[in-house]
Amino acid sequence: MVNAMLEVVRVPVLSDNYVWLMHDVASGETVVIDPAVAEPVLAAAAARGWTIGQIWNTHWHGDHVGGNAAIKAATGCSITGPAAEADRIGTLDRTVSEGDVVRIGGHVATVMEVPAHTAGHIAYHLAEDAIVFVGDTLFAMGCGRLFEGTAAQMFNNMARLGGLPDDTSVYCAHEYTLSNGRFALGVEPDNEALAARVAAVEAARARGEATVPTTIGLERATNIFMRARDVEELAQRRAAKDAA
Ligand code: ZN
Ligand code: FE
Repeated sequence: MVNAMLEVVRVPVLSDNYVWLMHDVASGETVVIDPAVAEPVLAAAAARGWTIGQIWNTHWHGDHVGGNAAIKAATGCSITGPAAEADRIGTLDRTVSEGDVVRIGGHVATVMEVPAHTAGHIAYHLAEDAIVFVGDTLFAMGCGRLFEGTAAQMFNNMARLGGLPDDTSVYCAHEYTLSNGRFALGVEPDNEALAARVAAVEAARARGEATVPTTIGLERATNIFMRARDVEELAQRRAAKDAA
């Protein structure tokens, strides 16, 4: 995926995690988003002749920060993550919160606080490049579980992320799309865009293909959590999915 001279590479790790390597052609800088582990990420960078200069974390869970220390030991990179979770992550060089700016070369990412999956969860939005890294807050046709927050917070997150331009590429941290889509079809059986997407996802997964990144426009049409009309509806859908 090449986006205005930013190249984003998917590194599949563990059972269903995606680590994202983002490379700026102009400056030669490379950022890793949410390295669950180190070795496959270092190998993916080395295979392209890239040197990792930064890690950006979205939240404290081990499958998002587990590679921090080893990647830093190997590269000397700096690590940025949510101020509210600095104590839990432990390896951060820079802590950020709502509205802070982080950079890769001449490209700018603005930090969005999107609490609910964890209390300090953040997203990194590159508005000029139409890219957002959402960690475990927004998934293709899904949203993160509410481990440390409320349905009201997640409703607000869906409204904020759903308010980004339709062509924004959404980089989620897990391949949960098929399970999310099948559940969503039970909730919105008459949504033709959703039915078509689930059929396409079933075919893609059968071929062993990834279904992430997605886009904000696609999520607005097919994501039952983003489409929930109020907090109550989101809460009911999230509880039903948890129990499914
Ligand atoms: Zn998580
Ligand atoms: Fe995760």
